[in-house]
Amino acid sequence: MRFSRLISVLMLLCAVSFSQSSSAAKPAPGFSIDTIDKSVDPCTDFYEYACGNWLKTAEIPPDQAQWVSFVELHERNMDIARGILEKATAGGAGRNAIEQKIGDFYGSCMDEKAVNSKGIAELKPELKRIDAVKDKQALIDEIAHIHMIGASPLFAFYSSPDLHNADQVIAYIDQGGLTAPDRDYYLKDDEKTKAVRQHFVEYMTEVFNQASKDEGKSETDGGQKADTVLRIETALAKAEMDRTSRRDPKNRDHKMSREEAVSLASNFYLDRYFHDVNAPTFAQLNVGNPEFFKQINAALESESLDSLKVYVKWHLLNSSAPWLSQPYVEANFKMQQALTGQKEIQARWKRCVNLTDRELGEALGQKYVEVAFPPESKARMLKMVDALEKSLDQDIQNLSWMSEETKKQAKVKLDAIRNKIGYPEKWRDYSSVEIKAGDLLGNVQRANEFEAKRQIAKIEKPLDRKEWGMTPPTVNAYYSPPFNEIVFPAGILQPPFFDPKLDDAVNFGGIGLVIGHELTHGFDDQGRKYDPRGNLHDWWTEQDGKEFEKRASCVADEYSSFVAVDDIKLNGRLTLGENTADNGGARIALAALEHMIADDKTGKEGQKIDGYTPEQRFFLGFGRVWCEKRRPEVARMRVLTDPHSPGKYRVDGVVQNMPEFQKAWGCKAGQPMVAENACHVW
Ligand SMILES: [Zn+2]
Repeated sequence: MRFSRLISVLMLLCAVSFSQSSSAAKPAPGFSIDTIDKSVDPCTDFYEYACGNWLKTAEIPPDQAQWVSFVELHERNMDIARGILEKATAGGAGRNAIEQKIGDFYGSCMDEKAVNSKGIAELKPELKRIDAVKDKQALIDEIAHIHMIGASPLFAFYSSPDLHNADQVIAYIDQGGLTAPDRDYYLKDDEKTKAVRQHFVEYMTEVFNQASKDEGKSETDGGQKADTVLRIETALAKAEMDRTSRRDPKNRDHKMSREEAVSLASNFYLDRYFHDVNAPTFAQLNVGNPEFFKQINAALESESLDSLKVYVKWHLLNSSAPWLSQPYVEANFKMQQALTGQKEIQARWKRCVNLTDRELGEALGQKYVEVAFPPESKARMLKMVDALEKSLDQDIQNLSWMSEETKKQAKVKLDAIRNKIGYPEKWRDYSSVEIKAGDLLGNVQRANEFEAKRQIAKIEKPLDRKEWGMTPPTVNAYYSPPFNEIVFPAGILQPPFFDPKLDDAVNFGGIGLVIGHELTHGFDDQGRKYDPRGNLHDWWTEQDGKEFEKRASCVADEYSSFVAVDDIKLNGRLTLGENTADNGGARIALAALEHMIADDKTGKEGQKIDGYTPEQRFFLGFGRVWCEKRRPEVARMRVLTDPHSPGKYRVDGVVQNMPEFQKAWGCKAGQPMVAENACHVW
């Protein structure tokens, strides 16, 4: 894991984040009434009605774990990026500095022959340095070094806004050091989890043995090494705070002096670590989970130096595996397959486009917006954001359960929300990153190091509020509590979310609802704890806080009753913020549409299209965005790790709470899409 990802987690990424994608060039997955299954009663199961025909014909491509509009769009964006990158790679002497960076980076990734002929050669010096370590104090130097080049053993170190003074960035240390996506993979003992764990051990065994062979050693003790790593990571997992508890920022709020943090876990040699990574001087830092450091301190005592070396080597091998020779790439993919069910590895060009986006995203992004983001899109988005903000303002003012005092504070917070649309006004400067043709692993490590240094340099500096947490081609959007801002990259501003050729009703059900969703995050169970400046500060009266919790519990209980896959139910508390945002977003987006219809003197906005009223088209547009197929493996993974509900419940879970929906479709009490106890927060 890279430093930047750790930062993203703290910024509360919304919607679904996809680092992977699939097959040949296709048109945008636009809105069409052909996806509707008219044999289904919309009041019985609206998702089945809106997506039924899509579900009958759509197939998950073999190189995908799931198929949904986000992934379809990501495919299109990758085709565009591929064209840019191939041109930049072939470009010759006429290239500018940005084209040289992204072209040579992508070219080094595509040169599979060179990558295969090198085997593990480029990692050998790193592995030798770990072998040469004489004591546990010196091992922290190696951990610091590999943190900088892109792996993340043992714990996390990063910079982020101070929870109580968001204008200032401070240092953070936190739990970390796992290979699997969640602590539950180490702790649960059901058959499916045990099978994934077995795959994990096989993956490690294969990679360790291959590495020994490539290093010219005769050892075949990969199995023992794998057991060592599993034992250490299980200890880390036991000490970790679970994902649902971490949703509450108060559980991660532990600012202390540097001395206190260092003495909390003397076996981590944190002072030496901070020196190694060249961190600016700081007197205080935040420790995300102090218990983790206390518990692991004992584990570091009981594990031998040799075992710890094996563990650190594993993290280096695992993070490098996709960019090494074929045996490592295949072993790594088999692990991904066990977790997600994906049938085939993606074509190399797709992996290389994604890697370029990850490592040099704002360089590739500059070229991407030149070809894929017309200025008119930004103007129309600004208008919609404005309409949605007004709508949320009215919604809050009309709430019966909130006092005037808290409403006044909520308005201050809403007015302070900034928005970012398309791409950053100031691009990141990659001129100090050396990108060499034919040196893939070196390029990846140098790009990672550039990013790590950039993150560390922010410590004890004022927050740069112009910075973006996503790259422009990303099909996603987010709200950030410390920044108190909503952000929409260019990548999502296209069909089926946003189609300039279609009526407002469909667009309000698509991107309008996404805007409403992100705005609502400022007021969900997590976001409401932050004030307009982005500080963790309670601006609610005690009574209003209780009223909020009561209504949020209704949402948590509702979604906890939904079955995600097999007999596994959704975690209503893990998904509470996203479900609250979906419900609030739908309500305020529809209200904004109703205003537009009322204000339209021509009467055009209120007309039926294809036989559907604007309200019906709003809900159909919403449904289309979430038509989705998932392989069972990835469905199981997401129940544990994803704060978002599966597509079916993002739609049905919302509409059954809405009298507006029931009116639009003529649903009657007792039908499944008419909840007996409808939940209503915003
Ligand atoms: Zn969200």
